[in-house]
Amino acid sequence: MTTYIGVDDTDSQDGMCTTYLLTEIIRELDFPVLFGYPRLVRLNPNIPWKTRGNGALSIALAGNRGSAFKIGEIGGREVLSSYQPSDHEENADEVLTNVSSVIEKLAQFGEDNTNPGLAISHNRPDSGFYWDAVRGIVNRDQAKSVLSRAGGTARTWKNGRGLIGATASISWVPRERSFEVMAYRERERWGTTRRLDASDVLGLSSRFPTTFSNYDESNRHTCIVPSSPCPVLFGIRGWDSSVLEEAMLSIRSEPRDRWLVFETNQGTDDHITVPQGRLELFHSYMLSGTVSSAPVTIRGGHVFFDLELNQDRLAIAAFEETKELRKVVTRLIPGDRVTVWGGLKPGPFGRCLNLEKLAVNALAALRVKKANPRCDVCGKPMQSAGKDSGYRCRKCHTKSGSAVYVSVERQIQEGLYGVAASSRRHLSRPPEWSFSTSSGHPTELTNAG
Ligand SMILES: [Zn+2]
Repeated sequence: MTTYIGVDDTDSQDGMCTTYLLTEIIRELDFPVLFGYPRLVRLNPNIPWKTRGNGALSIALAGNRGSAFKIGEIGGREVLSSYQPSDHEENADEVLTNVSSVIEKLAQFGEDNTNPGLAISHNRPDSGFYWDAVRGIVNRDQAKSVLSRAGGTARTWKNGRGLIGATASISWVPRERSFEVMAYRERERWGTTRRLDASDVLGLSSRFPTTFSNYDESNRHTCIVPSSPCPVLFGIRGWDSSVLEEAMLSIRSEPRDRWLVFETNQGTDDHITVPQGRLELFHSYMLSGTVSSAPVTIRGGHVFFDLELNQDRLAIAAFEETKELRKVVTRLIPGDRVTVWGGLKPGPFGRCLNLEKLAVNALAALRVKKANPRCDVCGKPMQSAGKDSGYRCRKCHTKSGSAVYVSVERQIQEGLYGVAASSRRHLSRPPEWSFSTSSGHPTELTNAG
């Protein structure tokens, strides 16, 4: 029988990381064969009170040793996983005690924002809870009741908000998924500058084409390396789990203390919905419409424009951190047909959609006035007859409605545009992977339960 263990909200802004704590849980449980991969599940990125990356962790126990494969290494020992369950049954109380002891040893209880939660269950809780947690707003009591309906056990510390992520992580049944291999630093190096060969990162995407978000060329930023002083050395994301160990080994770096491959919902756009009815704050949407105002750049480099939807109008914001996506946005004109992806949040001028991705579907014709029309009789340029009154020839008293226009080539092309890799949301699908969510992707979709 499978035992699902979810844990969340143990980390701090600048120290521990729940993914590291998970490796310590595997060690504490004496390297059980995992059923499926450990999971790193990102939740609603718009929630104002989220911790760092809003990622929740889980593992499932009782994989079948006979069909196990290697997915990591901790302290020189292999971490094994299998997609087949074994008959072995863990004692849930014992697991609860052991996992709690790791949380109590490592969680950053001193931080206001750290409120650990632990969920343990022999049955997977209703997967609807995952969708609510990645798309909407759920509370701890909802998590508790979903978990208890599955026959599971909760343990919380402080306000226990981490139970939401802990439960969501074990309730996830992937529609699609990606993977991330995390390499960790030796303890004595935590907080010091990370040593790795940047040139190895530069070519990573071409050496391993199924990996993504490795390097941001326009901002010369190495995206695989975290910016916080946490125990992570680097993390490589990809659609194909089978190449990630080799990808990791191709990066020359300071010694790796341990590593582990996670199954994740990163890059899946799971947080995005097509709205049914009214738009709600802190939800993420995909919307298509017509640009109805010229983009305006405000102080700080944030760009705004209005999008006309069916009978409705919505402000769209490309904030400074979206970097070069703003260049595309400033070149839009009224009449352009676009699709936008992003989270609805309060903004400086009321609520606005915070742009994550933009598809330019059809460009409006851009024409500029070249000259006044010429008189049919005398051939001389006509004069304006006043605002909105067309043109006239003073001498011949002829009239004409329109000036001479020329078409101007637009400075953007139709296509899909994302934000820079370095400021992309974990959940946001990179534009270069714009396959449809229903058609699957280059990874096998073996269902772990
Ligand atoms: Zn004339």
